[in-house]
Amino acid sequence: MIDFTLGEKDKKIIIELRKQAEVQRKYARYYDLHEDEILPEEFPESPEFDHIDQMVEERGQDGCTPAVFLILRTIEEFRGDFLKLRGLRTALGNASLTAAGTKEQKKKWGHMLLAMASTEPGCGSDSKAIETTAVLNGDEWVLNGEKIFVTNGIRCDGIVVWATLDKSIGRGAIKAFLVEKNTPGLTLTKKEKKMGIRCSDSDAFVLKDCCIPRENLLGRDETIKVKSGGGFKGLMKTFNLTRPLVSARGLGTILACLEFVTDAMKKEGIEVDWEAGQHKRSAVQQKLIELEAELEVATLTTFYASWLADMGVSNNLEASVSKAKGGDVSRRGAQMALDILGATGITHDHLVEKWFRDARVTDIYEGTAEIQRLVTARALLNYSSADLM
Ligand SMILES: Cc1cc2nc3c(=O)[nH]c(=O)nc-3n(C[C@H](O)[C@H](O)[C@H](O)COP(=O)(O)OP(=O)(O)OC[C@H]3O[C@@H](n4cnc5c(N)ncnc54)[C@H](O)[C@@H]3O)c2cc1C
Repeated sequence: MIDFTLGEKDKKIIIELRKQAEVQRKYARYYDLHEDEILPEEFPESPEFDHIDQMVEERGQDGCTPAVFLILRTIEEFRGDFLKLRGLRTALGNASLTAAGTKEQKKKWGHMLLAMASTEPGCGSDSKAIETTAVLNGDEWVLNGEKIFVTNGIRCDGIVVWATLDKSIGRGAIKAFLVEKNTPGLTLTKKEKKMGIRCSDSDAFVLKDCCIPRENLLGRDETIKVKSGGGFKGLMKTFNLTRPLVSARGLGTILACLEFVTDAMKKEGIEVDWEAGQHKRSAVQQKLIELEAELEVATLTTFYASWLADMGVSNNLEASVSKAKGGDVSRRGAQMALDILGATGITHDHLVEKWFRDARVTDIYEGTAEIQRLVTARALLNYSSADLM
């Protein structure tokens, strides 16, 4: 039976996460304005919140299932600020290792902060167009190519690089390789300047005759699958794990916006009366109610996608639906917050204008809104990617 109820331990963890959120917000603007600096992981005066990890470890099966709880935790962390994205260990590279690695590989590299590189100058939404090559030379793989927009590229310990064994074959020849940081031949070429989530680095790399041990091929299967998806399935599986999490990041940000706006309205003497009929509400009250309802729908959709993963059931459709809905609510919710606040919303006195910029990315990375709708349509109509491109 589907159950998203919180346990007693969960409620205590949420109280701690809310304290953490207050601390994150104190530093959010600084990181927003200083994106060029590579700053220490935390400010010295920032209190540690490691005990939250410990509490999560000890919760066992207290209330909802683990992936659902992770969604809840992510919403709370990003309700604090996108600052949490710095060094997040549920990062894309770690998800790739979970999706494609062997048991031994997960044990060997699971403790590391791993970035993930699939995007290239000529390959974004269409991941099967990857041009970076991997060639076996004795006991080493030699990687050559260019990767862009690698989140956490600077502060990670290693990068899961998706590359092809044979460009003429497409998805069946794509594999994932673990490239440890400081491997000769892996060179950072650019750190992007972005409109939002500026606390998180997005980096470009060149791989030039970059040699890694043969055993760094995730999954260790060196064969090319001409007809089936091969290693490419691992990339899609990665996204099935991470898309609900990306949705949760956007939803946390919008929850913060909604709370800010609700407080601001209260100060002006405007409170939403849920009991009153629609005809008795002002336009602003109606907007707030609509946003709350949309947030609720997106949150439940996101919980459900993760619950399916916990049950070991394929969640390809639901992961994309949650990302599409979460991205849409993020974009429109932030816009709505600014609409209601007017001039106050766009000043640097508050974080709402920053959250507006941050929220925009939810609809872009890990598959754009259009791609989520494409995946959803394929799944509902039982079409392959060749049938519906
Ligand atoms: C902040 C940030 C962090 C990122 N982090 C990472 C990372 O860690 N690792 C990584 O590998 N990548 C990362 N990316 C890259 C991201 O995944 C890509 O930007 C995304 O997949 C879209 O690719 P693109 O930008 O090349 O757009 P394109 O694929 O060129 O698409 C351009 C536009 O066309 C639309 N479009 C494309 N194909 C179709 C279609 N078939 N039908 C309808 N519309 C279509 C898209 O929706 C989009 O609106 C990150 C990007 C950002 C902005």
